[in-house]
Amino acid sequence: MQFRNLPSVDSVLALPNVTAAAAAYSREWVVELAREELDAARQRIRQGGEADGAEEIAALVCRRAEEAGLAEPRRVINATGVVIHTNLGRAPLSRAAMQAAEEAAAGYSNLEFDLEAGRRGSRQARLESLIRQVTGAEAALAVNNNASAVLLGLLALAAGREVIVSRAEAVEIGGGFRVPDVLRQSGATLVDVGTTNRTYLRDYEEATTEDTAAYLKVHASNFRVEGFTSEVDAKELAALGDRLGVAVLHDVGSGSLLPTERYGMAHEPMPQESIRAGMGLVFFSGDKLLGGPQAGIVAGRRELVGLLARHPLARAVRIDKLSLASLTATLVHYLRGEAEREIPVWRMISATAESLKERAHSWKRQLSEPYSVAESRSAVGGGSLPGETLPTWALALDASSLPEGAEGVMRLLREGRPPVVARVEDERVMFDPRTVAPDEDMELLAALRGLNG
Ligand SMILES: *Cc1c(COP(=O)(O)O)cnc(C)c1O
Repeated sequence: MQFRNLPSVDSVLALPNVTAAAAAYSREWVVELAREELDAARQRIRQGGEADGAEEIAALVCRRAEEAGLAEPRRVINATGVVIHTNLGRAPLSRAAMQAAEEAAAGYSNLEFDLEAGRRGSRQARLESLIRQVTGAEAALAVNNNASAVLLGLLALAAGREVIVSRAEAVEIGGGFRVPDVLRQSGATLVDVGTTNRTYLRDYEEATTEDTAAYLKVHASNFRVEGFTSEVDAKELAALGDRLGVAVLHDVGSGSLLPTERYGMAHEPMPQESIRAGMGLVFFSGDKLLGGPQAGIVAGRRELVGLLARHPLARAVRIDKLSLASLTATLVHYLRGEAEREIPVWRMISATAESLKERAHSWKRQLSEPYSVAESRSAVGGGSLPGETLPTWALALDASSLPEGAEGVMRLLREGRPPVVARVEDERVMFDPRTVAPDEDMELLAALRGLNG
């Protein structure tokens, strides 16, 4: 019987590496880990496996104990070429944004203290002035994320009343953010108008009643409707709202402050355009194309922003000091006209195919095995620019002749330190330099050399 060959908990605990782990962490917890690993070993036997020895179980216990001491989330090398990767933490911060967060975290700050007057101040004042400058809005407010910004907007302006939304825009953004559900949670009633592919200004006008609190326009940021379509222009909708006394709200999603067409992609709606079009409020994320920390930004007319800021739920969704510090530093990059150079997402998006080809070749030169350099496409991701890709050159590993196959190589890379996440194209594992920071090159190459060992 294989079961009888399994070591006892005590014999695992007696091994020096496990004794050391028990001393470093908590003995009870390490005993628990040993029990769990022995259970898993029993399970493997039931599935036809051999019994593990005490050393093997001990190694598993020590690895898990060690992992508990590691930071979480753990740093990962993103070689997928997806710039705003939702599963990998969206936007990396600029150096200045990181330093700002670090300073705010490490000590005291004037977070809510007016240094000139020597009394309580507003945590939003400086940030508001920056958002106003980059968007052209009269007033602004930053909160925890864009989902909470939209929810707060609807609560403050439309609870108990009606909100008109085009049928083409009653969308799900992913991760549980569905426009009809958010509306319901705010206590507003959804009135959908138009059809999935076509909505006209008269649809909004005809549906407007005394109960209409707002028109909500949502950028369907993760899919594209093609062909016979028509949507109402922001400017026309804003004018209708003004004429009928209805607030016009625009959820633009990604918060692209730079024109994406400059990089050969479709135009992504920009907050400053919505403001210029006369929208009452515009909502967007801090950590998509804006390239900052998780945050939600509301910009627009002073009296509307004021209603949100004074709503009782504003406190529940307020921005924390670390995000506030790094968001402020990120916005300063736009003000100084240095966003493309300093903000990682824009640096990655603006990297030319030629420079990426050079990097992929330099990786290949430093490796021996059967790597090649192949033309491919990077994606922006993060629920922005659906279907839009950027030309790139990737380092390719043909896995068709490897025993572990492409998925096996991917798994080995994920187990590394730091883990590497790549993508598979036709049994080739592709490493896209676009999303790998230059100071990660050595670690990536070491991980790839490790595959042969
Ligand atoms: C991403 C997105 C949201 C949600 O933003 P979070 O910052 O993730 O909360 C809402 N609306 C649109 C249109 C989006 O693209």
